[in-house]
Amino acid sequence: MFDVAIIGAGINGCAVSYYLTKAGLRVALIDKSGIASGGSGAAGAFIAPKFTKAGPLKALLEAAYRYAIDFYNAEFPDLITNAPLLHLAKYEDENEKVAYFKQHTTLDIGEVPPEQLGLLTPWARGFESVYLRKGGLVDAKGVCETLAEGAAFFKTEPKEIRFKDGIWHIGQISAKTVVLATGAYKGVVDEPYLRFRPVWGHRIDIKTTTHVPMTIHQQVSISPSREDGTLAIGATHNVHYHPESGEAYDTEAGRAELIRKACDTIDLQNIEVLKDYTGLRSGSNDYMPLLGRLVKAKETLEKFPDLSKGADIDTGAFVYYPNLFVINGTGGYGFVLGPYLAKALSEHITDAKALDPQLDPVRFFRRWAKRAKHKTEEGA
Ligand SMILES: Cc1cc2nc3c(=O)[nH]c(=O)nc-3n(C[C@H](O)[C@H](O)[C@H](O)COP(=O)(O)OP(=O)(O)OC[C@H]3O[C@@H](n4cnc5c(N)ncnc54)[C@H](O)[C@@H]3O)c2cc1C
Repeated sequence: MFDVAIIGAGINGCAVSYYLTKAGLRVALIDKSGIASGGSGAAGAFIAPKFTKAGPLKALLEAAYRYAIDFYNAEFPDLITNAPLLHLAKYEDENEKVAYFKQHTTLDIGEVPPEQLGLLTPWARGFESVYLRKGGLVDAKGVCETLAEGAAFFKTEPKEIRFKDGIWHIGQISAKTVVLATGAYKGVVDEPYLRFRPVWGHRIDIKTTTHVPMTIHQQVSISPSREDGTLAIGATHNVHYHPESGEAYDTEAGRAELIRKACDTIDLQNIEVLKDYTGLRSGSNDYMPLLGRLVKAKETLEKFPDLSKGADIDTGAFVYYPNLFVINGTGGYGFVLGPYLAKALSEHITDAKALDPQLDPVRFFRRWAKRAKHKTEEGA
């Protein structure tokens, strides 16, 4: 029997696996398609903060960014490329946000070296920018595979999970605790309040004769050139396509969009597309990740019907799945947030350390419970 079974081997599941196995726990890591086969395998895996004014997501991402840069450099120096990052506003309305960020940040920023500024198109130079000295990008698949090394890996798609006599049963696998890290793909626990915003993304590796010495973020992200003259461009944000719809994805259209947007910023010469990567990001409805226990909606609403009238009942009295946690909703920042959130979750599992209440999935249950009332009234 395993101490913990993690379902989903993207960056979030693999990072949880890393910390738990490091703490000496026996971990089963389960994925229907393989390690980093979902959104994580597609990621450009840029490690950046959020260049905006203020708010809880900005604060969380800044803490996670600082943590991630140190974490990857200390644990996986071969899998991170450290490079400065030039972030440019995408449109006029964003200029103010970027200017505000630049004025108020405590991160290590500086002036763009003039020869690097010369790489930008006149259009791109017309926008506010911030030059972060410490940026990075990681080898997404390599990081996930290395993080997962201490776990026993099972390629399987459990149809359901059952809790019996204090133990979780996931097909033939049994474990004391379960962590759900299934991203935007169809998961194994269906709760009505647990809904994610799937955002399909496409990135490409290209060869170009233009040398790019830094990471550039504007409409898309452009990585620094590798030694062989290749670089990554990512990513599209396509809310209309879903791989589970059965429709074919238009790769040519995605490539064209990426190249057009990259060339709006920098004049890349002699482009040859080498490889496509696609996958789903999993966003939450308030953009903050979900980290913590899962409420059983039906049982909790039966126990506290006044929740549908907005009653302020202590969440400690709600009915939860026993020994079951979720880590999800990292949107376009899984490689920034993953290690930070996974460390917190593993310390919660091993040492009962408190989790950040802002990230508690219970917030979505509360909102759903109130809407459940409206639905009943509308239906009446
Ligand atoms: C194109 C693109 C570019 C991106 N660029 C960046 C970037 O530059 N920086 C950054 O930080 N983030 C980036 N992201 C976002 C980042 O990739 C996501 O936040 C991250 O992948 C989320 O990880 P995850 O582990 O939650 O989900 P996923 O990586 O999607 O993993 C979920 C896994 O669960 C498995 N699974 C689902 N259901 C089941 C089931 N029932 N049984 C078994 N297995 C199951 C899936 O097969 C999948 O492997 C990008 C994403 C995309 C798509």
